[in-house]
Amino acid sequence: MATRFQIAVFDGDGIGPEIMQPTLDILAKLAAGGGYAFEFIPCAAGAAHYAKTGVSLPETSMEVARTADAILLSAMGLPDVRYPDGTEISPQIDLRKALGLFAGVRPVRIFPGLNTPLKLPEGRSVDFVLIRESTEGLFHTQGCGEVTETEARETLLITKEVSQKLFSFAFDLAQGRQAAGRGYGRVTCVDKANVFRAFAFFRALFDEEAAKHPQMKADHAYVDATALWFVTKPWEFDVLVTENMFGDILSDLGAGLMGGLGVAPSADIGTQHAVFQPCHGSAPDIAGQGVANPMAMILSAAMMLDWLGQKQAVPQLCEDAAKLQNAVETVIANGEARTADMGGQASTRDAALAVLTRLQVS
Ligand code: NAD
Repeated sequence: MATRFQIAVFDGDGIGPEIMQPTLDILAKLAAGGGYAFEFIPCAAGAAHYAKTGVSLPETSMEVARTADAILLSAMGLPDVRYPDGTEISPQIDLRKALGLFAGVRPVRIFPGLNTPLKLPEGRSVDFVLIRESTEGLFHTQGCGEVTETEARETLLITKEVSQKLFSFAFDLAQGRQAAGRGYGRVTCVDKANVFRAFAFFRALFDEEAAKHPQMKADHAYVDATALWFVTKPWEFDVLVTENMFGDILSDLGAGLMGGLGVAPSADIGTQHAVFQPCHGSAPDIAGQGVANPMAMILSAAMMLDWLGQKQAVPQLCEDAAKLQNAVETVIANGEARTADMGGQASTRDAALAVLTRLQVS
């Protein structure tokens, strides 16, 4: 059984380093208490790195990412730093493609203390997972779309190979949730199959996978109606699976339901590798002030512990993942150390310290 894990750490741009360091401190303390260890390997990448060197994702960092046991990433990109074609530096998207991280897992869970804009009816709770395909779809021609004086063209790609892996992942996740007493044992394919042949293809592949899981429920929804239902009846969802661009947009809506990007974690998972990072970006408007909410980053680290624990068969890591998630939820429920985005005045450090104190490992 491995007890030492190498973690590639991309602390990126803007608030990235501010939320990464306290998260690493928490992970190190958990590891010390749990009898395992992390070796955190800093990896240069991002917009500031590009501005300095002309390279956004150095091969040396890619090599560390390929060999590490897991990858932690805070946020990358700065609106003012762009490639000559006008698009932004986004190594987080390059990493997903290079490492085949097809399953973008975005949990949406409303728990006490979150500033959700929803008024949930009595007895209703929201706990669903949006899976965003993260390597193809409308992001396929990213960086090489065709632009002339009069036209611009990008191509959406849906492949059988990736879709099959994606849908299989979605049904496994729903089954695992059901076994853990969560969800309805249902996967919903979110598409636009009424208009686009590519989505009819996507849906047909989904149906093929659904037929292999007769014990699970499977249904379909159009993406526009799904956006409405996120707001009007989100308690009806369990696992949703969708194309890259649709997932990109819906996942921010999901974060909005939770009360903001500062509390929305995510993971991009492939068959070998996985990147864990908050849903949010580098938040340049608050960078350098020490006021960013670290909770989304910390919850993403909890997802990493759980994934690593399952992959490496180390139950202690899964236990610590649950402990860390509970600590964050308790701090939020108690209204402790709220950062500005949650209506408080706490600093990033204070908020992370409250989690550490809850864990009683400091
Ligand atoms: P953003 O997520 O950085 O910020 C949106 C809003 O949410 C801002 O008001 C910001 O202050 C707030 N916010 C975000 N994270 C927060 C946190 N942890 N605590 C408190 N408030 C927080 O989105 P944006 O402004 O559209 O993008 C900024 C940069 O980040 C851009 O360069 C963009 O390309 C990049 N980006 C990167 C990622 C990523 O690395 N995965 C994702 C989205 C955007």
